[in-house]
Amino acid sequence: MQLFQTQQIKLYNTLSGQKENFKPINEGHVGMYVCGPTVYSNVHLGNVRTFMSFDMVFRYLKHLGYKVRFVRNITDAGHLENDADAGEDRIAKKARLEEIEPMEVVQRYTVDFHNILNKFNFLPPSIEPTATGHIIEQIEIIKTILEKGLAYEVNGSVYFDVLKYNQTKQYGILSKRNVEDLIHNTRELDGQSDKKNPQDFALWKKAEPQHIMRWPSPWSDGFPGWHLECTAMSTKYLGEHFDIHGGGMDLKFPHHECEIAQGEACNDASPVNYWMHANMLIMNGKKMAKSTGNYILPNEIFSGDNPHITKAYAPSVARFFMLQAHYRSILDFTNNGLLASEKGFYRLMDAINIMDELKASESSSINISDWKQSCYDAMNDDFNSPILIANLFEGVKFINQIKEGQASLTQDDLEAFKTTMNAFVFDILGLVNVTKVETDTDKLSGAVELLIKIRQEARANKDFALSDKIRDELAEVGIQLQDGKEGTTFSTN
Ligand SMILES: [Zn+2]
Repeated sequence: MQLFQTQQIKLYNTLSGQKENFKPINEGHVGMYVCGPTVYSNVHLGNVRTFMSFDMVFRYLKHLGYKVRFVRNITDAGHLENDADAGEDRIAKKARLEEIEPMEVVQRYTVDFHNILNKFNFLPPSIEPTATGHIIEQIEIIKTILEKGLAYEVNGSVYFDVLKYNQTKQYGILSKRNVEDLIHNTRELDGQSDKKNPQDFALWKKAEPQHIMRWPSPWSDGFPGWHLECTAMSTKYLGEHFDIHGGGMDLKFPHHECEIAQGEACNDASPVNYWMHANMLIMNGKKMAKSTGNYILPNEIFSGDNPHITKAYAPSVARFFMLQAHYRSILDFTNNGLLASEKGFYRLMDAINIMDELKASESSSINISDWKQSCYDAMNDDFNSPILIANLFEGVKFINQIKEGQASLTQDDLEAFKTTMNAFVFDILGLVNVTKVETDTDKLSGAVELLIKIRQEARANKDFALSDKIRDELAEVGIQLQDGKEGTTFSTN
């Protein structure tokens, strides 16, 4: 018996605008695709929040016993400035400005992305495919859409024919727009474009002579349109029809709308059952933007090196802060918010540290199975992490009451309680008990202090050979001793 047989998830489906019972296509298996980053700059904190929401979803589905194939791509070509069909490729532009190869840009920021996600204790996705690794698949999809008569070629570029598609299908079904409004609200083509209508979007773009990132195709040397890669990679790894597609709210239109259109055009069926969108992260009540200075990089949170925060925060504190908001709510990133979360986080960890020492009793004064189910209920209700966290603090209260002798649990209840606390705090929310790491640091300090004392005695005995040996060998393992007026201190690197 797996947990998913007793725990029914309800999730908010952007497509229907309602919370729906989650039922995977194949029982016990979940296919989930999340649009990954365009790797042309350091990962934005707002994107980290989006990916963290789906990391939590991934973790919870796994906890319930589902076999999850989670695909999160890397966009390393085809994403033009302003998300439009004209303008420079974001990666190529960065490469030109820094005078390096586009693939050096891709490498640098893919590594940065992974480093940041590792610090936040993300689970790696099951597959992390790249757009440039799937050019052939993208060309095949374009051929199919052309054969179906829903795309046209002009001067070596291929465009999706939105108006023709809309005669039999519904373009705008996800973002609740209709094509008539889109026509009214889109400015006229300036004569530079090859498109029949401004609503059409590129499937393939012929490369200008100076464009470095180019591949041969039946139509021209060029590159795929941005929306196409996700259709190609999700189809390849999850099939024409899969369970969950996620991404940031900003991708709903046009990116995800175009993915639906491409999938429908190829297979006459909607590619995805459940569309999930994570809301924005703002800072101090305003949009985060480098240009206005209202901006912070994830690494600056860990170092404290940013004027908008007063101190450094552990990655788990920042993670806890973000999960204290529901993924569909706007989250306002503020120093006061972080300070409050830090207090809460350490209160939770302190309680967990004493949980292991709690003693069982003859009887239970707390109904643990009710409390445990309320933790599941929170997550089953569209992954409501703030309500879950409120339940975990209820657990903190139990720990303190049991410790003070004001409440009791039988051996079985105590075991169930500990298992549930650990599962939700560490496996599902993905927090790391940094206070335990500090305990290790305390042990290290104790050992080094002892060596400093021995070294002082050696010096007092004029045994300079031993004193130097202690200093040099500590330096070799990365511990530097500094002799000062106040005595000897040490630092590590
Ligand atoms: Zn995508």
